[in-house]
Amino acid sequence: MSMQNIMQAQLAAIYSGPRIPILDAITTLLEPELPAIAEVFYAEFLEIPETARILQHHLVQKNLRVSLSQWIRALFDPNSGADIAAVIQRQEKIGSVHANINVRLSVFSHGIGILKREIYTRLERHIPEREKLSEAFLLVEQLFDTTTAIIIEAYLSHEINYETNELSMKMKGITQNAAIECERLRTLLLDWLRITLTLLYQTSELDPASLPKLQYSTFGLWVIYKSDLLSHTINASTDLKRQTREIDEVLFQAAQHRVAGESALFFEAVNRLNDAVTKTSWFISSLVDQMMEIDRGTDVLTRLFNRRYLDTILRRQTEISIKQGLPYAVLIIDLDHFKRINDQYGHDNGDIVLKSFAEMLLLSVRTSDFIFRYGGEEFLVLLGNVEPSGALSIAEKIRSRCEMQAFKLPGDIAIHLTCSIGISMHDGHPDYNRSVQQADAALYDAKRAGRNQTVLGGE
Ligand code: GH3
Ligand code: MG
Ligand code: MG
Repeated sequence: MSMQNIMQAQLAAIYSGPRIPILDAITTLLEPELPAIAEVFYAEFLEIPETARILQHHLVQKNLRVSLSQWIRALFDPNSGADIAAVIQRQEKIGSVHANINVRLSVFSHGIGILKREIYTRLERHIPEREKLSEAFLLVEQLFDTTTAIIIEAYLSHEINYETNELSMKMKGITQNAAIECERLRTLLLDWLRITLTLLYQTSELDPASLPKLQYSTFGLWVIYKSDLLSHTINASTDLKRQTREIDEVLFQAAQHRVAGESALFFEAVNRLNDAVTKTSWFISSLVDQMMEIDRGTDVLTRLFNRRYLDTILRRQTEISIKQGLPYAVLIIDLDHFKRINDQYGHDNGDIVLKSFAEMLLLSVRTSDFIFRYGGEEFLVLLGNVEPSGALSIAEKIRSRCEMQAFKLPGDIAIHLTCSIGISMHDGHPDYNRSVQQADAALYDAKRAGRNQTVLGGE
């Protein structure tokens, strides 16, 4: 049974017939208490510096009480049983939003603790019969356990995704160099083999212990110091270390056989040595392929970032924005009637236009800004440290450059096109998805208003 099925079954049992009267009783009892519970919750969280930072935002203040009450209300609503998938989805949303806001899990658990405590005291106060009270306790406990499990699961999967991407982003520079480095490594390995074989065959008074060990060669040192930096998803380091040791082992055996005059065994060992080195050399080139796969965080056509890193970068940008008070803007740019260009000039030419447009974008923003290929003919730009007027004027610059530019196609063809841009300012809200949604909505307005325009959105 999958975790998902277990959660579903547990929720089905909670919202089943025999428990309905208890759920009803709890709902009636809690409904008038919800504002007070939200108030206590809020007050206790303001005392923790790291959550105060998040709660400070006026929208969070406004929304938190409401959404907290709604969440509790829906939790005990017997009708929730009619759509368990929706219950699960709500919890998953909570998990991913908390991961976006970067609330630590311990803080989250602390919050659940406060809610339980507040609910239990009220149940105790209002339900005098011991048996009914313990039934109610049990039900609250089960509901919180199950929903928290779903929330944490969603939180972690979101969080892991974030961490993985951030790490792989940090490694990007290293990865690109590593591809070149791997080629050098293969050369080093083969050089080592050539020299070692020469020594193995030609040294007259061979001392097996004095042969150059691969472990201590430049290759071996790289394996020790750098191979685990290759990629966090490819666990190549352990394999490489083992292979290096094995090669040294075989070399030592070959040398011993030669010293002992066991020529059949000697040739057999030399063959094994060759095989082992070839295998390692092949292993390294396959690593490069794997790294390149992972490395494709950039779009092949435009060489811009693709959506994979969007969450990671937005989250960083939002943290910087909140900590340092640097506002940022999100621009979503969509080429107007792009389908017509494909229809008229063909897909390949459409691609050429997209490429030129991406180059124009790169030249229109600062190097500290981020540009993503957001969709087929859609781009997302993150402008760091700008005021609304600055964001508007950069967007206007992009829009008018696009309008003025003659996009060149093979065969001396030059075409003109326009773009629409939706802009949003990060409003300090810790959930960065809001900014993207606002820019999207503004883009929609720009399209509706006739295209070839920039619209600044927001509440
Ligand atoms: P609108 O002004 O409403 O945005 O019109 P549109 O034609 O640009 O919008 P729509 O979203 O209907 O179509 C987008 C088109 O962009 C569809 C597809 O042919 C084209 N497109 C998307 N990705 C690529 C791509 O990678 N290469 C090429 N050549 N065309 C693409
Ligand atoms: Mg589009
Ligand atoms: Mg379009």
